[in-house]
Amino acid sequence: MSKFLNKKYESLTPYVPGEQPQGMKYIKLNTNESPYPPSPEVFEAVNSNQVSLLRLYSDPCCTKITEKLSALYKVSPEQIFFSNGSDDILSFAFMAFSGESCTAVFPDITYGFYKVFAALHGTDYKEIPLQSDFSVNYKDYCGLNKFIVIANPNAPTGLTLSLIEIEEILKSNPGNVVLIDEAYVDFGGESCYPLTAKYDNLLVVQTFSKSRSMAGARLGFAVGSKELIDDLNKIKYSTNPYNINRLTMVAGEAALDSEEYYLGNCRLIAKTRDYTRAELEKKNFSVLPSSANFLLAKHDFIEGKILYDRLKSKGILVRRFDTPRIKDYIRITIGTENEIRIFLKTIDDILSNLTEA
Ligand SMILES: *Cc1c(COP(=O)(O)O)cnc(C)c1O
Repeated sequence: MSKFLNKKYESLTPYVPGEQPQGMKYIKLNTNESPYPPSPEVFEAVNSNQVSLLRLYSDPCCTKITEKLSALYKVSPEQIFFSNGSDDILSFAFMAFSGESCTAVFPDITYGFYKVFAALHGTDYKEIPLQSDFSVNYKDYCGLNKFIVIANPNAPTGLTLSLIEIEEILKSNPGNVVLIDEAYVDFGGESCYPLTAKYDNLLVVQTFSKSRSMAGARLGFAVGSKELIDDLNKIKYSTNPYNINRLTMVAGEAALDSEEYYLGNCRLIAKTRDYTRAELEKKNFSVLPSSANFLLAKHDFIEGKILYDRLKSKGILVRRFDTPRIKDYIRITIGTENEIRIFLKTIDDILSNLTEA
């Protein structure tokens, strides 16, 4: 830390992203990326003509991609906001909708970035414990009148709330924003964005990083009332109006022309996920019933850290967390069928070595 750092950031603990080893050394099942490439339309769209246009600023209004999403999701363009990854939107939303008079609440086990954004923007927060089965009890969030942030499906559990439960939360918190982070919704959840027509306090956030195979492009979007979107724009135009680069924008437009391709990938990933869960259960793992592109699993006898280390030494990267309640779990991103075959075989090797030892 330099002696110049503003005092208010001295105690900030930044988010620690999952490892991104360079050079394809590992089978990478640790950061919930898609194992499948972007659609052929995306390959075509990001061409040398677009590279030559890089000399010009990108469209700060994101006009074309907003029109495409508006047609696809059947919501007005005024209700849509695009940003440089959904993390940017989460940060803007904490900045815009929480603060001294409106503290934040989210589950105790969820996306680790929420508390970092709260700290960064000087908002107090309360973490509400998940139930013993790791599900969110929607009743814990009713009538709080605080800035509520819930990932649905939740991460790293993969468990979902129903639209009926979300609607109860919305109804009972009319004075505050309820942000539903749908980073994983395409793998088996149900999006609540149609509820934005009825509730002016709902902000739904999605990303192109997981189901649309574009984590490296950085593109996310929000759907909400025109007024909420205006608020996000106020912050965007006060920080970085050109925050989405041209190549990402054309890639995103092309991705929206390829819904069938991505839906097909999501179906395949969901099928591989359910197969993986069943196989792990046969090997004495407890596995949460995930609706996302990952599984949170714990072996009956092996500590999470040991399993993580053994997998890594055998070339497979998964994710684990030090949070006490889930410290013995590993989170496995669903890869291709072949990657999962190798993962399961490696688990067998690790387990049989243990019994021999
Ligand atoms: C991956 C993830 C994000 C971030 O997505 P980007 O669009 O890549 O910034 C947001 N929320 C949750 C719960 C995630 O897992």
